[in-house]
Amino acid sequence: MSFADVLIVGGGHGGAQAALALRQRGFEGRIVIATREGYQPYERPPLSKDYLAGARPLEKMYIRPESFWSDRKVEIRTRTPVVAIAPQLRSAELSDGSRIDYHSLIWAAGGDPRRLPCSGADLNGVHSIRTLGDVDRIRAQLDGGVKRVAVIGGGYIGLEAAAVFRSLGLPVTVIERLDRVLSRVTGEALSGFYEAEHRRQGVDLLLGHEVDALLGDEDGQVRAVSLADGGEIEADLVIVGIGIVPAVGPLLAAGAAGTNGVDVDELCRTSLDDTYAIGDCAAHANPYADNAVIRLESVQNATDMANTVAKHITGEREPYNTIPWFWSNQYDLRLQTVGFSTEDDEVVVRGDPDSRSFSIVYLREGRVAALDCVNMTRDYAQGRRLIEARSEPDRDALADPEVALKSLL
Ligand code: FAD
Repeated sequence: MSFADVLIVGGGHGGAQAALALRQRGFEGRIVIATREGYQPYERPPLSKDYLAGARPLEKMYIRPESFWSDRKVEIRTRTPVVAIAPQLRSAELSDGSRIDYHSLIWAAGGDPRRLPCSGADLNGVHSIRTLGDVDRIRAQLDGGVKRVAVIGGGYIGLEAAAVFRSLGLPVTVIERLDRVLSRVTGEALSGFYEAEHRRQGVDLLLGHEVDALLGDEDGQVRAVSLADGGEIEADLVIVGIGIVPAVGPLLAAGAAGTNGVDVDELCRTSLDDTYAIGDCAAHANPYADNAVIRLESVQNATDMANTVAKHITGEREPYNTIPWFWSNQYDLRLQTVGFSTEDDEVVVRGDPDSRSFSIVYLREGRVAALDCVNMTRDYAQGRRLIEARSEPDRDALADPEVALKSLL
């Protein structure tokens, strides 16, 4: 049995930042990170980008070098997920049977890839992209020779992976159940742009197609994706990118409130005493989404929630109120998103999408609510200020790429 002043569950972006921010703020108590994976904290975004492409080595994946954590006396217990917590005793049980008592608990366990609800999901050659281990397995299969890739799910991770596989010269089919890609995160204009781009790059993009089953050969290796309409797509490597399920089982079992993840207040506190939750698994009322209760899956959200908690534990009460931002790299396109858009927003396109450098501005009740900027970092930086200032710019000026956004403040 041991005692941690702060026990952090999960050593991903949120967990690492929580430890880092606590030490930066002078917190001297014992900090333990218990995490399921076998690695020091590493960056997840490159998993579907340059790490998948083989263009970034493992040592460049770590958030900080190993010595950073030991120098700051942050203990990292790898391969030991927390399996249960007893909130009244303030005690956590780890998978190896050991227990850690704590004063404060920060739950930063992220989420697990949603499984394909059909037969064949366990065949060899079927992968998700969430961990270093996932991508190492994909790369090992690529090294052994792959003929055809199918990507199930047209979200950011699926599309980024499709772009990488095309850059490696592989035939790729993307299968999306809905009638457009990226439907969960952006509007029709940007979806249409990325659909055209992937087709131009040679991706066979199937929209409005449901997967019925994955078919394998006698050795248990996937060989095709069978569609509900009877079609069959040959593939010996299948990526399933259909979202995550928040990893909150032990926390909810201990009585924390939550349905889609775990509910937190503006200080990232759960309904259990001295128990916080941050990052992908934390459902919160977001001021930039008109206080709708949402989970955000982004590095920004995990990092800024970690900072909110570190402040609270060290005696500063500053509610989580950071503007959401996100990025995605596909081919030579760098998308930067800031703010939070909804389907009902008015849309203004700035610049010509054919130039591969343009922005889409989303207005809610006349105010700038969000921007999607493709190869347009200047709009991203200046647009953020329009959102923060709750600006109501003139539509014609907004649509004119010659007019700098900062002049509309
Ligand atoms: P994670 O970073 O997922 O860390 C959670 C950790 O907790 C994991 O290591 C997990 O194994 C561990 N864990 C789970 N259960 C337990 C348990 N019971 N006990 C102990 N440990 C546990 N965001 C962007 O902003 N831009 C991008 O371009 C981008 N690209 C992405 C690409 C990919 C392939 C993926 C997977 C994500 C991407 N994201 C991106 C999202 C971003 O990485 C996540 O939002 C962020 O990692 C969330 O941080 P987190 O701390 O909540 O969870």
